[in-house]
Amino acid sequence: MSDASEAQASVQSLAEPVPDEPPDLLLHHLHTSRRGLSAREAARRLLQYGPNELRRRGGRRWPGELARQVTHPLALLLWVAAALSYAVGSRNVAIAVVLVIVLNALFAFVQELQAERAVEALARYLPPHVTVVRDGEPAVIDARQLVPGDMVVIEEGVRIAADVRLLSGAVDVDMSTLTGESVPVLRSAELTDLRAHRLDAPDLVFSGSTCTGGEARGVVFATGMHTQLGRIAALSERVKERPSPLEAQVRRVAWLIAFIAIAMAIAFVPIAVFGAGLSIRNSVVFAVGLLAGNVPEGLLPVITLALAVAVRALARRGALVKRLSAVETLGSTDVICTDKTGTLTENHMRPATTWTTTAQADLRSGAPSGEPDPTLAILAAAAAACNNAALGTNGHGDTGDPTEVAVLAAARLLGADVDPDTRTRRRRHAYVFEPQRKLMSTLDTGPADRDWLHTKGAPEAVLPRCETRLAPDGEQVALTEEERIRVTVQVEAFANQGLRVLAFARRALPPGQPPPPREEAETELCFLGLVTMLDPPRPGTVEAVARCHTAGIRIIVITGDHPLTAKAVARQVGVGGDQPTVVNAQALGHLHEKQLDDVLAGERELVFARSSPEAKLHIAELLRAQGHVVAMTGDGVNDAPALRSADIGVAMGRSGTDVAREASTMILTDDSFTSIVAAIEAGRQVYDNVRKFIVYIFAHATPEVVPFLVFALGGGAVPLPLTVLQLLAFDVGTETLPSLALSREPMEPGTMTRPPRPHTEPVIRGPMLVRAWLFLGVIVAALQMAGFFAVLIAGGWHPGAPVGPGSELHHVYQQATTMSFLGMIAGQIGTAFAVRTQHASLRSIGITSNPHLLAAIAAELVLAAACVYAPPLQSLLETAALPAHNLVLLLPYPVIVWGADELRRWLMRRRTAATESGTAPAA
Ligand code: ATP
Repeated sequence: MSDASEAQASVQSLAEPVPDEPPDLLLHHLHTSRRGLSAREAARRLLQYGPNELRRRGGRRWPGELARQVTHPLALLLWVAAALSYAVGSRNVAIAVVLVIVLNALFAFVQELQAERAVEALARYLPPHVTVVRDGEPAVIDARQLVPGDMVVIEEGVRIAADVRLLSGAVDVDMSTLTGESVPVLRSAELTDLRAHRLDAPDLVFSGSTCTGGEARGVVFATGMHTQLGRIAALSERVKERPSPLEAQVRRVAWLIAFIAIAMAIAFVPIAVFGAGLSIRNSVVFAVGLLAGNVPEGLLPVITLALAVAVRALARRGALVKRLSAVETLGSTDVICTDKTGTLTENHMRPATTWTTTAQADLRSGAPSGEPDPTLAILAAAAAACNNAALGTNGHGDTGDPTEVAVLAAARLLGADVDPDTRTRRRRHAYVFEPQRKLMSTLDTGPADRDWLHTKGAPEAVLPRCETRLAPDGEQVALTEEERIRVTVQVEAFANQGLRVLAFARRALPPGQPPPPREEAETELCFLGLVTMLDPPRPGTVEAVARCHTAGIRIIVITGDHPLTAKAVARQVGVGGDQPTVVNAQALGHLHEKQLDDVLAGERELVFARSSPEAKLHIAELLRAQGHVVAMTGDGVNDAPALRSADIGVAMGRSGTDVAREASTMILTDDSFTSIVAAIEAGRQVYDNVRKFIVYIFAHATPEVVPFLVFALGGGAVPLPLTVLQLLAFDVGTETLPSLALSREPMEPGTMTRPPRPHTEPVIRGPMLVRAWLFLGVIVAALQMAGFFAVLIAGGWHPGAPVGPGSELHHVYQQATTMSFLGMIAGQIGTAFAVRTQHASLRSIGITSNPHLLAAIAAELVLAAACVYAPPLQSLLETAALPAHNLVLLLPYPVIVWGADELRRWLMRRRTAATESGTAPAA
């Protein structure tokens, strides 16, 4: 067998092992062991089997994509127009229309390709990671480096990255990506069913599914395209993203305008024939030009690209958006439901104080001096035992949950042994932390030859389970009602300072007995004391909250923490004012839907404390039902329903689980609240920019239609002020580049000082059309006509004088149409500057702040010069070189158009200011 075929056979054998053979045989088959692969062997296999990723089928599909661009319905309409002008004998116009179609298709194709790339590139920002055992040690690696034979660790919240046979432990997995069934199923190393179909085998888990609970280890038997998911991916084409609401809306409007254009073109023929005495052939050609010039076929691709540009910019600012359409939803978000720990705060907790009923120590400035108090020493020992974190040196390299790290740091400051090996040796059983119980317990051997149950958790969960407390000498005494009240008062005093408070308790159990059921174990406890920790607000949060307020965005904090801690933190960052309204979410279960609805109604900012994932879901649903657009953060497995139910589910890139990331629309790579606000800002910006270039594109309709209208109404006395080919050249040459540049406009001042856009508001509003068609468009058309007649009259023309080929005035006529052509272009340059802002003055954003636009205009001018001075184009478009004094006449055009709009915006701003200050508008 040759080397190549041997390698091939080996790939086959690893890709297709018999996963239901006994574990040891399977391991033998995969040339691996329970200690995992060595790093060197893993590297070798990576070379042999390739990275663990899905390859898309086909690769080059661009001929098909390009074909789609030239056959979409608006393009088909233009094909009909081209065919029509060909049929009546105007080959030039037919070719020009085909050119319009092809150029637009190319532009659209390039833009969509870029949009697609932008979304695909996002995956690279956040590579999925997996925990594997290599060289006998757990290590976190990039999931693409997984190879067959790797031993992987699967925990709650993890996305499974390869096909795995479980060797120990049991997990619940959500296999909906493979089976469509969203109810999690149990997969366990202990179960085998030789007859089951591979996907149903109870000891196998597959790439693409997620672990919703439990913990297990297993061996990878297939990676990349050899996984079950890979097979599905090989079979199916990638799913195309559905058009966003914005795109759907714009498509509708584009069609509406296309119909208006058709109607106009059809109406033009009889008017031209009977009114202006034009031949049928010529009037059909003009009608075709009118149609081709006014069908807004370039609009949609520009919008797609604008969204993609925003997605890319967001990624750089720490927010990965999974769908293009999310960008527009962000722009209308009016409520942010955020959790506290890690989003508003740093999630870097530092021990603050420890307290027992008889002693207290402040840990903020280090270890307490003097003899250690016996009650504090017992508290510290419990804190070290009931813990899963590990401390590094000098505050670096800590691992584990930040709350537990802080607890362990407190234990170390109080002199306890915090060595993880000692802890593991002593631990007999662990009752894991459950957010609903707000408790965690461990069963440990010793001290004093006994087994001890150590419990920690939220004070109101621990205290009711306690019957005794420690006396000053460390003995147990009864916990009286007064003592309970004292503890509660102390907890509230700490919480009021914004500290997170954990209570500790323990109980002795007979040694060597099997661990009792949890409910039985966590009773009759002896209260040991409290450990508090400080988690300061993240830098920048206060400012981000203030920005939300000026932007009319309401913040609701939903946290698992104590109501008073939550309130104090809310106050520190500015949510809810000086006295934030706090709702204890545990009471939510007793509230009627109506009551909760009332609590949420209005503009009040709220803090939901001691909340649960169910409460989150409930709050998201009610807010949406009230018509709000809700962004909701979450990090745990149980948060997934709430993340899906919100308009924008926001997951944490660093601390969150894969499940939450999967369920969300946006992932924050830095976990920070400020990134949510930045994303909303970007959402508003892109929506504004889309509106800007819509106004720009629509504005050129008037100067395109007016020359034909003047001609038709002139009843034969006025020659056509613009030829059809000039119109088409204007259409292709001026529309695309500046509108692309406008999609990159920097943010307009005031974007974050106005209320969110109502999500029902259409993207194209009446006032925008008035501004485009009746204001900017009319000014450009008037200037264009003025130029046309000025040249014509100066050349000796009078109404009705012949201007056709061979006539005396023909050259003058050609110069006049050239003037009208250049007049339109000059006017549109003014329009481009005018639409750069919707309300603000151009000065406030700076004339040169969008270099893309300046470049686009430069390109447009070069193109216009070529149309007028390059001989081949000159003869095709029937243009004529203009004398300098005519060109000078064009110079003020852009300034007039822009200046008029600047004045209009100034008046508008003055009126708004007057209305806001309560006085009647002066103008
Ligand atoms: P937020 O919702 O603001 O992010 P959180 O996610 O930390 O807060 P949970 O993890 O649900 O909230 O914790 C709720 C409560 O459970 C905490 O206030 C604390 O009292 C307790 N708790 C948190 N972690 C542990 C732990 N590891 N062991 C015991 N109790 C814990």
